[in-house]
Amino acid sequence: MSNSTNVRIPFVDLTIQHAPIQQELQQAIQSVLAKGDFVLGQALKDFEIAFAMACGTEQGVGVASGTDAIALGLQACNIGAGDEVILPANTFVATLIGVLRAGAKPVFVDCDPKTALIDLEAANKAVTPKTRAIIPVHLYGQMVSPLDLLKFAETHNVLIFEDAAQAHLAERDGYKAGGIGIAAAFSFYPSKNLGAFGDGGILVTKDADVAEKMRRLRNYGASYKYCHTDYGTNSRLDTLQAAVLHKKLPHLPMWNAQRLNIATLYDLELSPLASSGIIPIENQSGTGHVYHLYIIKIEDNCSIKRVQLQEKLNSNGIQTGIHYPIPCHLQPAFTNLGYQEGDFPHSEKLAQQILSLPMYPGLSSSQVKEVVAAIGFHSPLLTPNQR
Ligand SMILES: *Cc1c(COP(=O)(O)O)cnc(C)c1O
Repeated sequence: MSNSTNVRIPFVDLTIQHAPIQQELQQAIQSVLAKGDFVLGQALKDFEIAFAMACGTEQGVGVASGTDAIALGLQACNIGAGDEVILPANTFVATLIGVLRAGAKPVFVDCDPKTALIDLEAANKAVTPKTRAIIPVHLYGQMVSPLDLLKFAETHNVLIFEDAAQAHLAERDGYKAGGIGIAAAFSFYPSKNLGAFGDGGILVTKDADVAEKMRRLRNYGASYKYCHTDYGTNSRLDTLQAAVLHKKLPHLPMWNAQRLNIATLYDLELSPLASSGIIPIENQSGTGHVYHLYIIKIEDNCSIKRVQLQEKLNSNGIQTGIHYPIPCHLQPAFTNLGYQEGDFPHSEKLAQQILSLPMYPGLSSSQVKEVVAAIGFHSPLLTPNQR
């Protein structure tokens, strides 16, 4: 919706979080410039340890993107050709791309329409003797239930590889995002809860072998200089980006707390609209939800269509998004996987109903109320034959 004539409430505004810490950020960049260790430098090593610890893990391996963290991370866990990997149909396409790049076979399952998180009952039915791993995607900043995941993994003897790209420092039932499974992938795309000044990602793990292999894979598969024991690639988190991320990391708990406050206010302000068919995605994880995104569903009985609501908000200077309008199994590039419309009804329905509202640290209470006021048309439900 960037064609809005006059944006009053943007979907995301990163300048608000950077302004108060601009000097520390510039100093961090300056110190890397002074040292000149741009690739695999000291600031990268320092950040990897700090981020891994923040996730309750031991090792971090910085890479060029979240997508690479998934693709190379699965390979580092020795998941590949001949293996099946279960993942939700309603995730960002990068989860799928990661599985395919690792050489494994993606097996989609549907989601719970209330939370939009992977449906582990459905996952049970998708397990075959070839299933090696499940990728829970902690979508929108809410963790998939760790206890249910651990039970699933034990029952079926499969690995848990977390896609935590939207869930930096999220918690649920005493577990931290990234700390449940064998390894977890994070993205530092600028608008993620912890964002770089460009692309970046990291794999965190408690497994020393996985970490070692990941360090080789991101560095041309080298065990030591010019001896290549793995078929790797070039995918390193820049020292400059790591220095920036390390400066931002201490602020992340506060930013996440702000996101939670904003979401709590949205929930409250939106509650009168429930009877009109405007329903927020449910938070079932309490205060550990880090709200990368705040999503409402415009249900079929609502008197306004999603596209109309989006246009209405846009004409009021309020930007929105859709995460995501096409489920992975219906993406044109991947029709060869053999899925079709109707395979995952909840994911397909959500893709049509969801709308992402402005959400970022620094969004004010009055702005949240303004967004909800612009949504609030208080119209009655349509009767079935009007739909
Ligand atoms: C952002 C994202 C990724 C990919 O991260 P990039 O850094 O953009 O490559 C993967 N999975 C999910 C769920 C994401 O939101």
